[in-house]
This record gives sequence, structure tokens and C-alpha cells, in this order.
Amino acid sequence: MPYLPNSNRYSQMQYRRCGNSGVKLPAISLGLWHNFGHVDQLENSSAILKLAFDSGITHFDLANNYGPPPGSAEENFGKLLKRDFSGYRDEMIISSKAGYTMWDGPYGDWGSKKYLVSSLDQSLKRMELDYVDIFYHHRPDPETPLEETMAALDLIVRQGKALYVGISNYKPAEAAAAIKILKALGTPCLIHQPKYSMYERWIEDGLLDLLSAEGIGCIPFSPLAQGMLTNKYLKGIPSDSRAAKTHGALQEDQLTAARIDQLNQLNAIAADRGQKLAQMALSWILRDERITSVLVGASKPEQLADSLLCLNNTSFSPEELIKIEDILR
Ligand code: NDP
Repeated sequence: MPYLPNSNRYSQMQYRRCGNSGVKLPAISLGLWHNFGHVDQLENSSAILKLAFDSGITHFDLANNYGPPPGSAEENFGKLLKRDFSGYRDEMIISSKAGYTMWDGPYGDWGSKKYLVSSLDQSLKRMELDYVDIFYHHRPDPETPLEETMAALDLIVRQGKALYVGISNYKPAEAAAAIKILKALGTPCLIHQPKYSMYERWIEDGLLDLLSAEGIGCIPFSPLAQGMLTNKYLKGIPSDSRAAKTHGALQEDQLTAARIDQLNQLNAIAADRGQKLAQMALSWILRDERITSVLVGASKPEQLADSLLCLNNTSFSPEELIKIEDILR
């Protein structure tokens, strides 16, 4: 049976305008860093994507190196796009990135024009797409002149290979410089993708103010601290978790006894709000209107369904916020 998307999908999601641009993003976007590679079960990846689309998630975030092996998440996504979602391309925002090591030699990493242009060409081939909606520079390059990296993003848009561009992992001063160059080139920066969660707070120190002053969107990644801010680790490390996998980026030693105790205290506040810990962690990010969308991962459709329920309550009382800060301190 061919997949037929839920016809009510758009009434289930909230959409937020991305900075001052014309584009709106779903409050929850889906990231394909883990769980979509050749090491994973394709039908599980397919089920996650279908649930996402059925729930009004229109934005899918990839990068050249997602897998493992690197490139395989884009390949699998391209395969599923063709098989399950043909006819729906115009209802999707598809993002990719380059900036981390992708191939051997001096042209497969960082931020040269040579790397970014070649990498996006490879990504388009893997996904069998003519263009991506958003193309990001994945991390700042301390050696390549920022003018060159930003000129590459501008070129890519002028070539029609991306509609919009963004930056990721740029600290406030680096972001301000990149935004200025892109503006002068006539290809404004659409969005910034930083790491942000209850456990990772650096964007509160200047970046969010900068983005909102410049009319640029913000889409935090790893909002659940890779699964720590869920009910998954409240009693230890389950064998099917990212912390237990050899290719997972979460290390077992991050889950100390003190951390697990803290997670249980946060979980008690979530329960008082009628939420699970994962839902509270996502709501807590979305409480700030400067956030355009929150970029979640999921290893099973049930997790995504669970996370989506955060949208039922994204406001916090001052007392709740104080209690959370006390626990995090
Ligand atoms: P999260 O913090 O959302 O962690 C996702 C993981 O948490 C899942 O794979 C799963 O882990 C667990 N999980 C998710 N939902 C639940 C739930 N409801 N209940 C219990 N456990 C849950 O995000 P990611 O670290 O995966 O990052 C999200 C996306 O951000 C990436 O896919 C990528 O697109 C982007 N990203 C960008 C980066 C950049 O440099 N720009 C860097 C990293 C990510 P488990 O496997 O244990 O079940």
C-alpha cells in the first residue's frame, strides 16, 4: 500500500516564522544525525519519517556526514523520499550542511569554497534532489577567511542549489561577522543552528539577542542532551540507548550518579506539570519566542510521538523556572 499522509497534519503543528524571512518552520523539526544510517533499520527510519510528516513536521535536518557511515543518512533519506513521499517535496524544508570531515585530503573538511560546493553537489546526488531548502556551514573554520566561506554560501544560492543559507556552531562574535558579510552579498543568513538544552546554555549569553536583533531564526540541536533529558536514564543505562551504542555520541561516563539524581528531580517537576521529562525539556526551549523550532532526534516513532506532546504546554510559571534553575545549579 502506498503511504498516504494524514490529511489533518497541518492542524496538529504550530509554525513559527523564521526570523524576518518569508518561511515558517514547525515548532518541532526532525534531525537525522542518528537512526537513519546504513547501520540502522530502514523500515524504522521510514516509520519515524512518516509519523513526523503525519504530525505536521515539515522540516528535516541532515548533513553530509550523518550516518554511519557518513553520507548514508542522506542516501536513505533520498531513497525514502522517492519511495514514500514522492509528490510532497514542495511541502518540505530539507536542510543539509558541510563543515566536518567528509573525505580524505585537504578539500573534504572545514570551510573552503572548494569543499562546500563539492560537498553540496555530493549531498544532492545522494538525496537525488535538485536543491536543498537550507544549506549550512556546519562549524566555523579558524583558517579559511570568513569572506570565502560566506561567498561559497552565496554562490550556492545563486547556482540554485539551496534556497536559503544558515550557520551552525558559530559563537556570537563569529555569527555577527558572518551575518554582516552575507547581508552585504545579498544572501541573508536565514537561521543559526546552535546546541542548546537545559544542560547547554551558552546561547543565552549574547547569541539569542543577536539573532533576534538581526531578524534571524534559531533552531537548537540536541535539546534532550542526546536523550539524557528523558525518562530513559532515570534508573541507569538501558541497552538500546545511545549511551550504550558504540557509534553513539553520548558517553556512559556522562551519566554519573549525581546526574541521574538531578534528572530524577527534574522529572518530578515535569510530573507536576503533567509532562514527561522529555516533553518538559522541549517545552522549556520553546517557551522563548526567539526560538523558531527545536530540532529533535528519535530512535523510534514512539519517542517522537512522546516528544510532540510538549506542544500542549510550552509556558512556565516563574516558580517552575526558579525550581528548574535551582536543580540545574
Ligand atoms: P536529542 O537531544 O533530541 O536526542 C535524541 C535522542 O534522545 C534519540 O535518538 C533517543 O536516543 C532519545 N530520545 C528522543 N526522544 C525521546 C523520548 N521522547 N523519550 C526517550 N528518549 C528519547 O537530539 P540529537 O542529539 O539527536 O540531535 C537532534 C538533531 O540535531 C540531529 O539529528 C541533527 O539533525 C542535529 N544536530 C546538529 C549538530 C550540529 O552541529 N549542527 C550536532 C548534533 C545534532 P536513544 O537512541 O537512546 O533512544
